[in-house]
Amino acid sequence: MKLITTVREMERYARHNLRRGRRIALVPTMGCFHFGHVMLMRAARRRCDRLVVSIFVNPLQFGRGEDFASYPRNMRRDLATARAERVNAVFAPSSDELYPAGFSTFVEEERLSRRLCGPGRPGHFRGVTTVVAKLLQIVRPHTAVFGRKDAQQAAIVRKMILDLHFPVRLLVVPTVREKNGLAMSSRNEYLSARERREAAVLYAALEEARALVRAGERDAAKVAAAARDRIAACPVASVEYVEAVHPETLEPVGRITGPTLLALAARVGPARLIDNVILHPRRRG
Ligand code: AMP
Repeated sequence: MKLITTVREMERYARHNLRRGRRIALVPTMGCFHFGHVMLMRAARRRCDRLVVSIFVNPLQFGRGEDFASYPRNMRRDLATARAERVNAVFAPSSDELYPAGFSTFVEEERLSRRLCGPGRPGHFRGVTTVVAKLLQIVRPHTAVFGRKDAQQAAIVRKMILDLHFPVRLLVVPTVREKNGLAMSSRNEYLSARERREAAVLYAALEEARALVRAGERDAAKVAAAARDRIAACPVASVEYVEAVHPETLEPVGRITGPTLLALAARVGPARLIDNVILHPRRRG
């Protein structure tokens, strides 16, 4: 496995492999791997000849007062995991490498970015689209792989790929969860053992909402309120939002008549966590 830290070398690696007709898949990450990341790598592995995983804690997507400095990092363990998953190259540039002094060009999606996490994290998605656009340019993958855990991010990247004609296919992998239902996340490292147990309430709330829809409820406000109430009953969790939206446009939904994304953000102890499920009104039982 190659460890690549410069843009130049990464471009050279991509060029070399593309010339030989090899398909490249890219899994962009911020490192500190958990089994969710591993599932992305495995899904990507099946669709390519050369699997590239990027590890970059992107300063541009953290707001002032957010956890950039304390975000968990564990490069040595990540490299061992990547090697075990038969990753061909890890691209781990420094901030200066991706954003040299004088960097002044940004990519911003202006509609979906305003929904859900948008208001609570100004500038976040601009940071995400800018870094993903750069990674797509540098690595030139046929397939880029993202997790459904970050459903808004995946929807925004899909829109950017469409709007800017990036020649890449997007693959979105289902959310990987702990046994108690908590979505795996590098930020779960911030939680105490008790908070980790209590954080299961987020998925329990989404499941409760899903059960309501299965039982015939179609009023999106009622379904979201049920999930919100369930979380409010947990003393260590506080809800930022619970919203039912169209899975692609992220526009709010009044009645649940087709597949609907029920997404939430909540604070549990020191961590801001997000989760979501897709509600299927036609599936019963
Ligand atoms: P991160 O390192 O947190 O930026 O995540 C890198 C990629 O892994 C993103 O596409 C995430 O959506 C995805 N991911 C993170 N957690 C999970 C999870 N529990 N299940 C599936 N994908 C995930």
